[in-house]
Amino acid sequence: MLGLESSCDESAAAILRRHPDGRIEVLADLVLGQTEAHAPFGGVVPEIAARAHAEAMDGLAAAALDKAGLSLDALDAVAATSGPGLIGGVMAALMTAKGLALGAGKPLIAVNHLEGHALSPRLSEKLDFPYLLLLVSGGHTQLLIAEAVGVYHRLGSTLDDAAGEAFDKTAKVLGLGFPGGPALERCAEAGDADRFDLPTPLKGKPGCDFSFAGLKTAARQIWDGLDAPSAQDKADLAASVQAAIATALASRTRRAMKQFAGDYPDVATPRPLVVAGGVAANRAVRGALEAAAAQEGFRLIAPPMKWCTDNAAMIALAGLERLVRGETDGLDAPARARWPLDAASAKLAPVIG
Ligand code: ATP
Ligand code: MG
Ligand code: FE
Repeated sequence: MLGLESSCDESAAAILRRHPDGRIEVLADLVLGQTEAHAPFGGVVPEIAARAHAEAMDGLAAAALDKAGLSLDALDAVAATSGPGLIGGVMAALMTAKGLALGAGKPLIAVNHLEGHALSPRLSEKLDFPYLLLLVSGGHTQLLIAEAVGVYHRLGSTLDDAAGEAFDKTAKVLGLGFPGGPALERCAEAGDADRFDLPTPLKGKPGCDFSFAGLKTAARQIWDGLDAPSAQDKADLAASVQAAIATALASRTRRAMKQFAGDYPDVATPRPLVVAGGVAANRAVRGALEAAAAQEGFRLIAPPMKWCTDNAAMIALAGLERLVRGETDGLDAPARARWPLDAASAKLAPVIG
């Protein structure tokens, strides 16, 4: 399975082989970032991203085949992210995949990017359904129950900003550059997380939703109120914000763990809690989730860092899982700016964009 990805600011191509015993072998896994192109603007510029993806995509696909030592004929199918994401970018991988599929006479599989993140831990370990999933990325913060391939129940999502956005925007306020999440984590290493008092969003509120906009605003107000802030002030605020985000994620996830335990009493302890998406790379977040998981009788499963952020191996895996089930798509499969994961299997997702 060849998988292509271009929904945000990583162009990626990967090739996976599924052995008869179900084992997945990663034959190629290439990611081309665009950090330098976007850095002067302090964030991803959709037009720049789309152009860069369009220029990179077929070369990456060829390089992946080369790396795997395979010809196009040897593939069983071609998968590509078809949403959600920046629409100009999404079209680059999808159109490239359609061209390859048509030219080589192979089936096309249009993959939901979020399903790629949801299945990503299965690239590196055997993981049975159902599992609780915390999806924390640049555009999404959701708690879901993954019941089977294509069957996801949403327990909660963010009411405003995504957790990754809170990292990125706070990093921007602190002048830490782009991409913000990893920069903020590095800056926080020298900081005191107890120095500044930040609100815990939705503290004590029922349900499993998230909110990060208030936290981001509180951080900006603290920063603006500091008189000639020092490097230590910056590190302390970075550490305080990181801790607040980690605490908020862990406390809402604890509620979801209680619900999962009640809904699936037959799943043996420690029950599986998967964290996926770029923010899963953050060590403070992982630490808070590990502690919460231990308290609730769960074990935290996080994919290796390279498969937390955007990559094509997870897209190829989602494509493989669908191909095995005989689910392929026509060459009229649309690119979608929005595509909720809990509608992924229903094929009833609204086509927007
Ligand atoms: P989506 O998957 O929702 O479409 P995306 O693909 O842009 O969004 P990912 O690539 O999964 O998101 O993750 C990128 C996000 O992860 C960014 O917001 C980035 O700042 C954040 N991130 C990456 N590494 C870290 C880190 N070490 N600490 C905190 N945040 C991080
Ligand atoms: Mg990215
Ligand atoms: Fe992503």
